[in-house]
Amino acid sequence: MGDVDYYKRLTLEAKLIKQKYKTLGTGREGKLSKWSGCITVRNRPLNISIQIPEEFPNKPPLINANGVQTNLNEELDVLKNWRQEYNVTDVIDALRKYLEEKIDADKTISRRLAEELQGMRENSRLLMSGSEYVSIRVMRDNPSLREYRLLIVFQKYSKPRLNGKVINIKLKLPEEFPMAKPKIEISSGKEEIDLNLGNYLENLPPMRNWTPDKHLFEVALSILEFFNNFAMAVCPICLNKINAQEYDSAIKCRNPRCQSLYHKNCFEGWIKQGYKRECVFCDTPI
Ligand SMILES: [Zn+2]
Ligand SMILES: [Zn+2]
Repeated sequence: MGDVDYYKRLTLEAKLIKQKYKTLGTGREGKLSKWSGCITVRNRPLNISIQIPEEFPNKPPLINANGVQTNLNEELDVLKNWRQEYNVTDVIDALRKYLEEKIDADKTISRRLAEELQGMRENSRLLMSGSEYVSIRVMRDNPSLREYRLLIVFQKYSKPRLNGKVINIKLKLPEEFPMAKPKIEISSGKEEIDLNLGNYLENLPPMRNWTPDKHLFEVALSILEFFNNFAMAVCPICLNKINAQEYDSAIKCRNPRCQSLYHKNCFEGWIKQGYKRECVFCDTPI
């Protein structure tokens, strides 16, 4: 394409730009190949600059937007699949639409993260006091709305070997949340309990079949339920739980690794049947 055609085309582009984006100008040099100025994106000002190369329209214009780090040649379809009949204003339109969608998505996620925070706050009392065997405190170590810490403390009537132990679990909301499920990290206390905790937590009901309409507080509540069941002392003879009234009189295995609890009556009945005074689990004399 000759120079005449190039300038003809530049004139057409200039006309279109002036029609649609009045705030852009050709700058001090007045060259029709260079444009810059401020456009608005969802009421926010944005400085952009455009350069129309000599190979235009075989090659697309170069566009730069202040503070936009992404590779626009990749992000904008109009640039990626450039065609000679496209105009510079098509590129500006596409940039604007791209940024508007980004702003809207950011708003949606901020709203959602605020909702998650509210849900955690509303349920924190329940987590703290909702169980006989464990209490869970919701902590936030930094202002991020994407990170929570659950401080799990085993209470007085939990299994003796767990009694008073503490586990810290971090709940993190990934970038792709709520499409992607929260991440559960055991940050400390894992060694305290002899269990492949990670596996269990990944398979809690809200995690196992995660859908975007589920909430973080539901994960926290099911963690509470899990630890509550886990911490419950069960008599190995009758297989019933040992409740608060029975706890103090219960017979305890002295093996520190076992520490099984038995109902007093169950254990004595067992001895009367002729069994040795030994822990059913670990054979330690009682
Ligand atoms: Zn029993
Ligand atoms: Zn034992």
